[in-house]
Amino acid sequence: MDFDYKGFTDTHAHLSFIDEAQVSAELLPPALAAGGFGFILDIGTDGGDLSPRIAKLSACPNVRFAVGVWPYKEQICRIEENARILERELDAAPAGLVVAIGECGYDLRENPGAPAEETAFLEMQISLAQKRGLPVIIHSREAAERTIETLRHFPGVRGIIHCFSYTREEARIFLDMGWHISFAGNLTFKNAQGIREACAFVPDERLLLETDCPFLAPVPWRGKTCHPAMIAETYKQAAALRGKSVEDIKTLISQNAAALFGLPSNFRD
Ligand SMILES: [Zn+2]
Repeated sequence: MDFDYKGFTDTHAHLSFIDEAQVSAELLPPALAAGGFGFILDIGTDGGDLSPRIAKLSACPNVRFAVGVWPYKEQICRIEENARILERELDAAPAGLVVAIGECGYDLRENPGAPAEETAFLEMQISLAQKRGLPVIIHSREAAERTIETLRHFPGVRGIIHCFSYTREEARIFLDMGWHISFAGNLTFKNAQGIREACAFVPDERLLLETDCPFLAPVPWRGKTCHPAMIAETYKQAAALRGKSVEDIKTLISQNAAALFGLPSNFRD
């Protein structure tokens, strides 16, 4: 089947995690550059992963980068070391390429028992974002209360609650604190009624959409390797929920991403 991906914005992709053997080569870097995609934010998960990602995607002018460390069990106690690595990566990055810190956050399945180190590790990265004046990409799985509690301590910091997987009630709290909310392919899943209600509820200027590829392929590709060109299905779902056309949603998300990440106004192809 042909993918319609021209001009779509994807605010959360792990392009270097995509198994190229499982995805048509024309949908992958460096073909992303020529393919007419809109803005794509390539997300960091480990200290030191930035320069290989930049090198791999050097032919893609539509890609920008976030740098951060996911709350891996083995990393959350190494706060100082990771702080140093992230600072170094930010200092060494070419100007304008890094537009956010993340992803960082809470994951109850990775860290059962909610260890205090996980909070300190997240706070280190939010402080870094604050210092650098960058938005933060928050990962929050089965940890809504802890996430809200931590973000409350940083009232001046903004960013995205990515792959939103809670309900309208939590969405309201994050929105009241000034955060953006981004929905991934699970918006299209059959059992995701609560997430769809949240998507219908988020005001225009705070809505974002993402693939989280290679994870969370939307229906009809659920369970397959996800790539950015699958994002049209998530846009269709969001458009239907909000009573808008897909074109309207494309314009909206492109503007929201440009405003949040400080992209030039002529960024869109
Ligand atoms: Zn991610």
